[in-house]
Order: sequence, then structure tokens, then C-alpha cells
Amino acid sequence: MVKFPESHARKFLNVFVCKKCSTKIRAQSVKITHGKVKCRRCQSKKFRAVRKK
Ligand SMILES: [Zn+2]
Repeated sequence: MVKFPESHARKFLNVFVCKKCSTKIRAQSVKITHGKVKCRRCQSKKFRAVRKK
């Protein structure tokens, strides 16, 4: 099992990737789940967590 150091968590926490154009956006996860965050490039509201591959 791989442990995530705190620096890694800080880098990836609250960062989401647009599902359409894969632009990274830093936002609070609450805002993401409520659809209050728009992608600045394609205006999409669909994001995924950055850690997922
Ligand atoms: Zn986008």
C-alpha cells in the first residue's frame, strides 16, 4: 500500500479535472458536488478528482 505524504495531499486536495477538456481547477469539493464550479475553458460542470487515473 502506498501512503500519501502531506505534500502530496496538499497538491491534490481540492483540485479537480474537467471531464471534457481535462483542465485542472482548484475548488472546494462541496462546490463541485453542488455544481457551482464551471470549467474556465469549456464551461462544463463535470469534474473528477485529480488523483483518479
Ligand atoms: Zn473543461
